[in-house]
Amino acid sequence: MHTLHRHNAVIYAFDQHAQPALTIEAGERVRIETYDCFENQIDAHHPATGVDWARINPATGPIYVNGAQPGDVLKVHIESIEVADSGVMVVGAGLGIMGHRLDGMTQKIVAIQDDHLVFNDRLRLPLNKMIGVIGVAPAGDAIACGVPDTHGGNMDTKLIGIGATVYLPVYQPGALLALGDFHAAMGDGEIGVSGVEIAGHTVVHIDVIKQRPLLHPVVETADQLAFIASKITLDEAIKTATETAVQYVHEATGLSLAEATMLMSAAGNAEISQIVDPLMTARFCVPKYLLAAYGIQHFG
Ligand code: CA
Ligand code: ZN
Repeated sequence: MHTLHRHNAVIYAFDQHAQPALTIEAGERVRIETYDCFENQIDAHHPATGVDWARINPATGPIYVNGAQPGDVLKVHIESIEVADSGVMVVGAGLGIMGHRLDGMTQKIVAIQDDHLVFNDRLRLPLNKMIGVIGVAPAGDAIACGVPDTHGGNMDTKLIGIGATVYLPVYQPGALLALGDFHAAMGDGEIGVSGVEIAGHTVVHIDVIKQRPLLHPVVETADQLAFIASKITLDEAIKTATETAVQYVHEATGLSLAEATMLMSAAGNAEISQIVDPLMTARFCVPKYLLAAYGIQHFG
């Protein structure tokens, strides 16, 4: 298995001109180390007010995948996510949905103990380890790691956890995969602008599906396919995610567009991923048992 250390493979934008930090073959596994979204600048001794904002949202990569070409799909299966023993949250004036009610900046160091996060002496919350930023080089200009779009990026989607598979459109030779911004936990919306931000490492299995047109990322979990869309407004994001999902169900099952629409109206779910990044991210989730009735076990 390959290992990609974070200290010599930090990027701040998904960029077709970025120099690959590692080259692999399709079908290989890579262990990838990451900083937290503040590049580990905040701890008990280093307050959020001292953060160098040029060094936020680092991702580790990019990884050049031999054989990946524009028009293919990069398939990234997340085998494991391990996190550090503490994470950090920051809220404050102008940040997130509550930013107009908050003064200054407030930070909180959150310890991880026995697979729980210690919020305070009354509350221990279950972990929901997930990857906030995962993407490939876009078709055109470089896109900062803090921005989600069709190349993936800062999707902040809590379904991107252990066991999930992320499908990304390939725009550049080698795809140039990078990832970072792990969260020990995050709720839908990420309303305060940070999840429980944490450093860690992941093991991913990377594959290429040849000649598979894809307009937006898809996330597959044990029981659903989530069609992701990021747009200027949440309304647009949720409409695009929904239409993409219904079109997929229509084509994959052979149901008419009207029947596929009825099926998704009866059993599909329009959900919010995040509402605090430069573009809003929504998803439409299709339960896999519906697809299994048509012989479809996996996206692809
Ligand atoms: Ca994020
Ligand atoms: Zn984050």
